[in-house]
Amino acid sequence: MVTERKNIIFIVVDGLADRPVLSLRGLTPLEAASKPGMDRLAKIGICGILDIISPGVPPGSDVAHLSLFGYDPYAVYRGRGGLEALGAGINISSDDVAFRANFATVREDMTVIDRRAGRTFPEGDKLAEALNGYRSKNFPDIEVIVRHTTEHRCVVVLRGPGLSHMVSDTDPHGESKVLESVPLDSSFEAKKSASVVNEFTRHSYEVLHNHPLNAEREKRGLRPANILLLRGAGRLPDMPSLKELYGLKAACIVANALVRGVCRAAGMDVIEVKGVTGGFDTDTNVMGYAALKLLDEYDLVFLHIKGTDSASHDGDIEKKIFMIEKADSLVSLLLDSIDLGHTYLVLTADHTTPVSVKEHTGDPVPVAIAGPGVRSDGVKRFSERDCAKGGLGRLQARFLMPILIDYLGLSKKYGA
Ligand code: ZN
Ligand code: ZN
Repeated sequence: MVTERKNIIFIVVDGLADRPVLSLRGLTPLEAASKPGMDRLAKIGICGILDIISPGVPPGSDVAHLSLFGYDPYAVYRGRGGLEALGAGINISSDDVAFRANFATVREDMTVIDRRAGRTFPEGDKLAEALNGYRSKNFPDIEVIVRHTTEHRCVVVLRGPGLSHMVSDTDPHGESKVLESVPLDSSFEAKKSASVVNEFTRHSYEVLHNHPLNAEREKRGLRPANILLLRGAGRLPDMPSLKELYGLKAACIVANALVRGVCRAAGMDVIEVKGVTGGFDTDTNVMGYAALKLLDEYDLVFLHIKGTDSASHDGDIEKKIFMIEKADSLVSLLLDSIDLGHTYLVLTADHTTPVSVKEHTGDPVPVAIAGPGVRSDGVKRFSERDCAKGGLGRLQARFLMPILIDYLGLSKKYGA
């Protein structure tokens, strides 16, 4: 008998979960929103709540997605920079150390006047090119790669033997003096890396301060981009792909560079879809149609919506509800179109971002899974409180992927 292979659409709504809000009469934004699609999913599916890392630990989006994809973040995570670089389309190897970087404006005494040098950057590519390929004087085996990404942002990669990501930022994250990078452990590698970072930071000032494009910027009344500030050192996580682990062929539609980096690290193909943005204007319909098409080719299609988290960081309750309802229309579209005898639909969040806190917190998040063979559990609404009564109970997020793999029939039996 030939059994047709089952597949999964996995949706993460970033920062979706919340806490009760007084002005919503004690409801959470998710409880207050109109979300017929999500509620339908909860009704036909099995529900639960997930501790993304462990109870009470607020996760970053990168670590949260590692966990949702089945990895133990404490074992594999090696900082943010490597994932950002990967998400920006830069191919880095597992020995490289990558940083996020800003073109900034400093006075001669190295006091930062503007961390973003005015944000306008038509000359970003050329300024990055002027720094790209720098070779350390103290450690000539280290090369520095500089790539402009968007606006004032760059990615900086240190390449060569004996590096470590355990080094501090040069970015003071405010209007004070540029910081010296210091090693964060006692290894030679960390000392070497911090030394290269400081040497390169001084070099970036020397080159950019005297760059003719900066003279032109000043003539146009713009602030000179006269230094690069580095932060968030990181290496690629040390992990096998989903293909290597489970034989899973996976694709993702994700606009956010950091989450995209985690997807690439897990071996997913990144699919560009016009109209899908990381902002409030993202088109969830085109995302849905693109996902349906990908099901022909992939076992798992991962979809990410960012706006809910951004609204939460802004403390904007209406915007959060607006984005939840937008995500809900995606769930409705998919439920109307997929064959639930063949395709699983999974919905969850990567962490709680309460609008009252404006930051990630350690509360668990709701999850629902619908599809063939799923034991529905009497939960009728998709919310933080309703899902807590569901059949999955309370789980660590990294156990979600093994459950999905088992539904697909790809799990290996343990024992005889
Ligand atoms: Zn997030
Ligand atoms: Zn966030």
